Amino acid sequence: MKTPLPDYLARLLAQCDSGDGGQLADYIPELAQADPHKMAIAICTTDGVVYAAGDTDYEFTIQSISKPFAYALALREHGLDAVLRKVGVEPSGEAFNELSLDERTERPLNPMINAGAITTHALLPGSPGAGRAQALQALLERMTGRSLQVDEAVYNSELETAFRNLSLAYMLRNVGAVQGDVSEIVAGYTRQCAIKVNVQDLARMAGILANQGRCPRTREQLFDRKLVRQVLSVMTSCGMYNGAGDWLSRVGIPAKSGVAGGILGALPGQFGVAVFSPKLDEAGNSVRGVRMMERLSGDMGLHVMEALPTARASLRNPEVQVRADIDLYELQGDIHFAQGELLLRNLQDRGQRLGPVILDVSRVIELNAIGGRLLVDAVAHMQQEGVWVGLVDPGQLLQQGINAKSLRVNTFSQLQTAIEAACRQ
Ligand code: GLU
Repeated sequence: MKTPLPDYLARLLAQCDSGDGGQLADYIPELAQADPHKMAIAICTTDGVVYAAGDTDYEFTIQSISKPFAYALALREHGLDAVLRKVGVEPSGEAFNELSLDERTERPLNPMINAGAITTHALLPGSPGAGRAQALQALLERMTGRSLQVDEAVYNSELETAFRNLSLAYMLRNVGAVQGDVSEIVAGYTRQCAIKVNVQDLARMAGILANQGRCPRTREQLFDRKLVRQVLSVMTSCGMYNGAGDWLSRVGIPAKSGVAGGILGALPGQFGVAVFSPKLDEAGNSVRGVRMMERLSGDMGLHVMEALPTARASLRNPEVQVRADIDLYELQGDIHFAQGELLLRNLQDRGQRLGPVILDVSRVIELNAIGGRLLVDAVAHMQQEGVWVGLVDPGQLLQQGINAKSLRVNTFSQLQTAIEAACRQ
């Protein structure tokens, strides 16, 4: 069987190709030369599979989509507190290049507007100027798995007319948000924005954010989970210029757009997505890109606020009965709060009728902190109440806090043998 996903993406692309609204960005002269008909979409699953349609190899400059990754790199280098001392996390509701600072703290409002992005750029490792952009480029290359180039024509074109960003950088220098040579900082930031990518690269990068910072291709944990949570939160509240609120309510996927026409979105736990089309709306977002993302989100029910209840599938209906008086609970998948709560409630509902219990966690993929605690508590409570508990736990997921009295085995059949032996005694 061939998966229908590429066909679905091709259809979606065709449906969103109609109408011709928007303008090419022209404040960077070279961007006004872009081919307005190019259009592409790609999604990347959390295990690294890319589905794409349209001009999927067409390269464009990353522009502002570099900002969340520069933020991630700065956070990785300096830690959250140090970065927060320099750049806030409040949506600005202003244009991306507004000359503004938080009145009270004199910090840029967030890392997604230029004032915050220039400050963040200056926190990157590497020498001022090209060095910091190279550090970011190296990170993006690890995320995409291929070598990337800087578009020298776009870089030079933007730098020649970067008066606005220069004035922002002077303002930042004046309040001590950045140090050193202002023109070097702006040159480095401009270079960071001129790195060329295609939609598949962006989808892969987004897929890593959706996968809690782990690269499925290399299995490398590039960013820790809390860092990714921080980046996605800021993308959610500030990623779409002054159209962020509208975007969140209509599309509901944490995203970042760039003036070359790309939009990157990351749906935590599900996949990364990227779209491209160069004509922009008044807020600076790709017109057909927004349309594609809106349609994708609507068709597939992807809005983050529309998450499905996940607990129901965590308790399997046992296929075998060990013994009539033994209660068998088989857990599967990821066990977080909702799943742990469901198990505890089921045990409670059995009340006095709870016989010896077997808890089989051999199909559990991951336990988070609260999921683990709830399961350990469940075992401890049953033991306190004198209920015999057998644990099938080949991955040793439940170790700390489990009383040694419980019978621990690796496979279900070992458990059956142990029970039969116990019965014969
Ligand atoms: N290099 C662009 C600038 O700083 C990026 C803007 C954007 O993509 O929003 O003006």
